[in-house]
Amino acid sequence: MAKLDWFISFENLRELRRLCHWGPLIALGVIIICSIVAVLDSILWYWPLDSPGGSLNFLTLINWTVMILYNYFNAMFIGPGFVPLGWRPENAQDCRFLQYCKVCEGYKAPRSHHCRKCNRCVMKMDHHCPWINNCCGHRNHSSFTLFLLLAPLGCIHASYIFIMTMYTQLYNRISFGWNSVKIDMSLTRRDPAPIVPFGISAFAVTLFALGLALGTTIAVGMLFCIQMKVILRNKTSIESWIEEKAKDRIQYYQTGETFIFPYDLGSRWRNFRQVFTGSGAPEGDGIEWRLREGCHRYTLTVEQLKQKADKRVRSVSVYMLPLRMGLICRSIHVVWYGPDHPIYCMCVYNI
Ligand SMILES: [Zn+2]
Ligand SMILES: [Zn+2]
Repeated sequence: MAKLDWFISFENLRELRRLCHWGPLIALGVIIICSIVAVLDSILWYWPLDSPGGSLNFLTLINWTVMILYNYFNAMFIGPGFVPLGWRPENAQDCRFLQYCKVCEGYKAPRSHHCRKCNRCVMKMDHHCPWINNCCGHRNHSSFTLFLLLAPLGCIHASYIFIMTMYTQLYNRISFGWNSVKIDMSLTRRDPAPIVPFGISAFAVTLFALGLALGTTIAVGMLFCIQMKVILRNKTSIESWIEEKAKDRIQYYQTGETFIFPYDLGSRWRNFRQVFTGSGAPEGDGIEWRLREGCHRYTLTVEQLKQKADKRVRSVSVYMLPLRMGLICRSIHVVWYGPDHPIYCMCVYNI
């Protein structure tokens, strides 16, 4: 019900603009093409009113389409949850542990990152997904992952229908003569007359839909595996990268620190339940997070600040200095020589 309330609120009608993008247009195109062709092929291959098997096949197919679209639109329109503009921690002293976002004019809450596409700081940001034209994060993580699970399952079912339809249609049309095999590709079979005509163009469309369904199964199935890894470890793709950089930094400076990722609750089931709760909404408000024992609520943000400071120290600015005869550059690192004398020096400074 909460989702329905959300759906009809005027403010979110503006979110419909997310549909006007190549990602959702292609994704919805694939879902619609595969669903329509699978329904038509089902009518031809396994008429739903004649047997319980036919009915079950047809209802399951419709169920896939509804569930896929439901989770797809939830992932797109509910969105990841954005950190309120101008957000700052309750305790002003805590600001020193957090990064400031100039665009949102507020502090970045733990686990949040600024998305340039959404132009907002996103709660528990994993990545910006072009297919839903929105970020995958705190609030839509479950619906996004369910979509990634249901889409390949629906596509596998549709692929089976496509293959069986083409097989039965060809089987009924093949005739063997002396030294020849003939395939009748006219619109209708002679006996019995089908409800949906199946000619060469229908065959081509079914083959095309089969290609789409198999491609989607492989591509989306791989994305599902990646997201399940993220959920079971309670570590987003961005946080995995921060953890890698933390190990590099500690090793580089030999500081002897040990970085413990604070949000992995130590059990896959507990991590899973943080995203998939019975209510459909994730656990927590996206700002405060349950922590692993021995970790501070700002363990990760402090590490991010250290990495940012380290990046400033280790980065260099490079510029070209033209040299004339008699001019000496005191910080020469690399010199380009012309035919007779040095013409350019590349000066390298720490900033
Ligand atoms: Zn921001
Ligand atoms: Zn985004």
